[in-house]
Amino acid sequence: MRFFSHTFIVIIILSLFLPSCASLPLPTIPLKPVDTPIPATPTLTPEPATLTPTPSQTATPLPPTTVAATPEPIRNTPATLMLHRRNIKFDSVKFLQDFIAILQQQDLQVVTYRKLVNEPNLTAVKQGRLFIISIDDIYLRYPIDPSVLEMIAMLVDAGYPAVLGVVTDSDYAYPETVETLRKLQNIGWEIASHSDTHRNLAEIEKVAPKSVYPEIKASLDKLEKALDLRPITLILPEGQMTRGDEQIKRSGVLWVVGINGGNQYDLRKAYLFVGREGPDGNAQNTFAIMLKRFNP
Ligand SMILES: [Zn+2]
Repeated sequence: MRFFSHTFIVIIILSLFLPSCASLPLPTIPLKPVDTPIPATPTLTPEPATLTPTPSQTATPLPPTTVAATPEPIRNTPATLMLHRRNIKFDSVKFLQDFIAILQQQDLQVVTYRKLVNEPNLTAVKQGRLFIISIDDIYLRYPIDPSVLEMIAMLVDAGYPAVLGVVTDSDYAYPETVETLRKLQNIGWEIASHSDTHRNLAEIEKVAPKSVYPEIKASLDKLEKALDLRPITLILPEGQMTRGDEQIKRSGVLWVVGINGGNQYDLRKAYLFVGREGPDGNAQNTFAIMLKRFNP
């Protein structure tokens, strides 16, 4: 009851002030409470009643051991931001600086896809409180773009691990790039495949369906060789998913990251397709759009 009346007041305040105070500090946008019920697993044979409380009946998260005993297969994708290097039209460094301030103000936990695998209960007990930041188009064979290095430094300062989408391209790996990626990996960042040649996999598939797998495998092999850790995540070039998924399954990646769709994922699937959101105007506007999409 208190939650509803509080939310109502916040909505009233927001609707009164939002149109006229675009330049004021960001208002606190109500997030999903931690104990929001998770969609129920469809089951044909209901379990006999037990004394164990379900998440919806408790105000505090269940102990991890209890949650692990009855995992919910459908999870909400954490709100996920997609960034690229700075260009003439868009200053992604300034954008990220503003965005980090919002994440700090909202006290969100920034995670990686790999962390969600290592801590499978996190999406259940911290639903609506997790956030993923990804930066695409880092090339293993070249120095990292200075604007991307700036973004990396800001995220390291904030203690936020990000996911870096790396294109492997030739057999050469630029030593400083490898060193930077290794250092970041050691502090909990995730290095993801962004394919070998950055060609749109859906376009490759139209011409030669069986060339999708080698494109992914080559990048996984090269990243594993450079970093001693095989990526579990594929960031799709241009966010474009293939029509068939046999080639994706064969590659063995667990996370397949696109742009559209993928607001939820099903832990029972062979791979987990998840979506992302790119910047839309300023950081404040983008954050509001992301909350609507990922934490409806
Ligand atoms: Zn890309």
